[in-house]
Amino acid sequence: MALGSNLNDPIAQIKEAIQSLAQTVEGIQCAQLYQSKPLGPQDQPDFVNTVISGHTALTPNELLTKIQEIELQQHRVKTQHWGPRTIDIDILFYGNLRMNTPELTIPHKELFNRAFVTIPLLDLIPNGITPTGDQLDRNSYDSSTLVRIDT
Ligand code: AMP
Repeated sequence: MALGSNLNDPIAQIKEAIQSLAQTVEGIQCAQLYQSKPLGPQDQPDFVNTVISGHTALTPNELLTKIQEIELQQHRVKTQHWGPRTIDIDILFYGNLRMNTPELTIPHKELFNRAFVTIPLLDLIPNGITPTGDQLDRNSYDSSTLVRIDT
């Protein structure tokens, strides 16, 4: 899963979301946290992003429901597309499953287009081989816009 936040103490928001996810996701491994420039409107704070992995008995749709509960719990208010948010959680992979329904596209559609997802993801899969067997090439991503946060 990918997590991002740029409001109300983003690092705390991300930690809180991970704690909530840990109720139903076991063995969570967390990439480094990264600070990144927002996509779209620039008149908003930088984002903090990370990626986590883990195991869950939830189905993909149950996991999405859980994510949406956490987003609500943390008072995510959607003001504008690509606008500021307290927490955004996306499912990147679910094992090697591929699915495309109105609610869920897995692997996540924009995954490979976003350095703020691929760079943290590479912390968790240093060889770049994704759960669906694709090869992620570190050199294809501009990491200059990302700053690693020491926590
Ligand atoms: P967002 O604004 O990024 O939080 O978009 C949330 C919407 O994207 C949700 O209503 C989901 O139904 C949909 N969605 C599609 N694929 C995914 C995915 N892989 N992970 C999370 N949300 C997804």
